[in-house]
Amino acid sequence: MRHVDNSGLTAPQRWADRAAKELEKLQEDAEDADKKFSFREMWREDAIRDRLIALIGKKCWYCETRFVRSPYHVDHYRPKSVVVGEAERRGYWWLAYDPANYRLACHHCNSGGARYGNESAGPGKGARFPLLGQRASEGESLDGELPVLLDPVVAKDVELVGFDRQGNARRRPERPYSDDEVARDLCRVDETIRMLALNSDLLIECRSSVIDRVVGLVQLYLTSGGNAGVTLYARTEIDGLTRTTAEWSAAAAAAERLALLAHDRPGDDTLPDGEAGGEVATGANHGTEPPAAPATGNHVDLRTLVAALPPEAFSAGGIALTGQGKRGPARATLLEDGRIIYLQRPLNTPMSAARMATGDDHVDGWTFWSLTVDGTTRTLSDLRDSLIAQDG
Ligand SMILES: [Zn+2]
Repeated sequence: MRHVDNSGLTAPQRWADRAAKELEKLQEDAEDADKKFSFREMWREDAIRDRLIALIGKKCWYCETRFVRSPYHVDHYRPKSVVVGEAERRGYWWLAYDPANYRLACHHCNSGGARYGNESAGPGKGARFPLLGQRASEGESLDGELPVLLDPVVAKDVELVGFDRQGNARRRPERPYSDDEVARDLCRVDETIRMLALNSDLLIECRSSVIDRVVGLVQLYLTSGGNAGVTLYARTEIDGLTRTTAEWSAAAAAAERLALLAHDRPGDDTLPDGEAGGEVATGANHGTEPPAAPATGNHVDLRTLVAALPPEAFSAGGIALTGQGKRGPARATLLEDGRIIYLQRPLNTPMSAARMATGDDHVDGWTFWSLTVDGTTRTLSDLRDSLIAQDG
């Protein structure tokens, strides 16, 4: 995901005039609570779509895949008609014709159901718009809303996303969870990856190949030994892969930083966003818990919990996690670094792993997953409580 600066986005005057008339109709319809809205799909018109394309080119603002022959959609970030799970109230109808609410999206991100392996992990983005707090009504400011889904037009949302060497999108480990994420035991990056299937097989493959190319080109650039032609070639290629409009360029830009950093610090091949697990726990802790009680420090991911387990529990390469959902039994593996591997994909949080395994947006991962340590089988929630009790 790249930052899309839409702050200067305006609609052509004729389009805006027609949109204002359409909005007036909606306002009249809104007075009758039983009346169903009918929208004129003006967001599909070239007049407005071309201005969105001008911002970062013909690529999906969520997954960064270029629109080559597939149709591209103008997604309403805040859904216009209805929000999934809230049938009793209307969606953000008053933003239906507001270009600031438009995001260019591929068919998969906008309306395709997220799939992992051959299993549906729930619907695509479409009308999903979960929040960490209260939903705003018409006339209220949207600034107080805390969307779960990362927003490509918000720079600090985009900065939360990093990539591992294999091409998986993930939260940058050095970024602390927000208070609201901690309060809800979830990670916005993990949830966005889950809902949009940003770590689908094809995307990982594409990112991985871009990362390999960038790493090779940076090597060439650094070792060109004053050969101006080679230097220029490598630099031009790198610039082409990392520019904002290029496909999957967020991963390419991260790979360039990694390769340059590795050059500056030989022998250290961690990504620039590092694997500094402790920083996340510290950030979520806010000093309210003593550092000696790591299991209480972080309720979003499992890094503090695995640190309290005996290392031999991981001797088989990881600990089996099991859960029972509506679809039947689910299995995952808990690694020593706190990551959960489900369907060969790493997730940082039990919440997103459980929701991916069940396709259910409301499952609580801490009570869903169970594991056996020292012959005792417990849920993650019970294990966390018992470790806290031991510490106390
Ligand atoms: Zn997409």
